[in-house]
Amino acid sequence: MTRIGAYPKIELHVHLEGTVRPATLLEIARRNDYALPANTVEELRELYRFRDFRHFIEVWVLTTNALRTEADFRQIVVDYAAEAAAHGAVYLEGIFSPAERVRRGCGWQEIFEGVCAGAQEARERYGVEVRLTPDIPRGFTQEEARATVEWAARYRDRGVVGVGLGGLEAEYPPEPYADVFRLARSLGLGSVPHAGEVAGAASVRGALEALGADRLRHGIRAEEDPGLVRELAARGTVLDVCPLSNLRTGAVASLAEHPLPRLAAAGVRCSVSTDDPAMFDTDLRRDYEAATSLGLDPRSLYEAGVAGALCDEQTRARLRAIGESFDWDAARSR
Ligand SMILES: [Zn+2]
Repeated sequence: MTRIGAYPKIELHVHLEGTVRPATLLEIARRNDYALPANTVEELRELYRFRDFRHFIEVWVLTTNALRTEADFRQIVVDYAAEAAAHGAVYLEGIFSPAERVRRGCGWQEIFEGVCAGAQEARERYGVEVRLTPDIPRGFTQEEARATVEWAARYRDRGVVGVGLGGLEAEYPPEPYADVFRLARSLGLGSVPHAGEVAGAASVRGALEALGADRLRHGIRAEEDPGLVRELAARGTVLDVCPLSNLRTGAVASLAEHPLPRLAAAGVRCSVSTDDPAMFDTDLRRDYEAATSLGLDPRSLYEAGVAGALCDEQTRARLRAIGESFDWDAARSR
């Protein structure tokens, strides 16, 4: 691919439900006879102006429940892979929240079958490697959390590589989920919780210690504790940072104040992702532009992605080779 600006990218943090562009979401809602809180693309865009993180979660629940069938879940993976590939993505880790959908009447199996079929189709049609990391929504019961892990383990040979913890971070600390994450690790699944987005260093420490995090989703508020920053750098823990998401939810007051360049300068490995691109009015190219405008180097972002990916070693070697053979200097001078 020689499109200007389309240097290779790895995206480790994207919620598949949050990738559905407004026109597609309206179409899916119509097909499923689901009443969205908006009837036009413009009304959806208006709804996506978030007052704060809690408001974002409220809107998330109202819109993402339009997704109901195996075909819906397959479609959102394939559509997003096509979009991300156009921006240079070679590898994606897609998040989805099956327990939320199950509460609204979807079946575990149709969700997992749909996303896994979508991952395979994405590879075949667009050459993008897609791995999957279902999320446990904070505040959900131990039974729901355990079911998420058990279903994830059943689909390990279809691209499911880890489990995460998402949702209301400030209200629900990670510690009560320690046992389910221990179970996940014993079943060969990685641990990729959200932490340090809307709560501080204690939440990040909890994710590392209680959940055995292999990687942190966001992790930016680790900055509040210099000792923790040193520890993340020493451990080589990768943060999957989403600059424009943080701006849209108010997690940071302005892009200029974003902790990303300071964390990177302190030796913490950071990759860049979109989080919920359709809801946050962004795409992979724009989030990378935000990061590079803060002084981050595209190659270091790619290499952090290679290091943080939960894929098998063969895939990691292939990703590394893509980075090593790419002419980054030429990409930078454009
Ligand atoms: Zn997220």
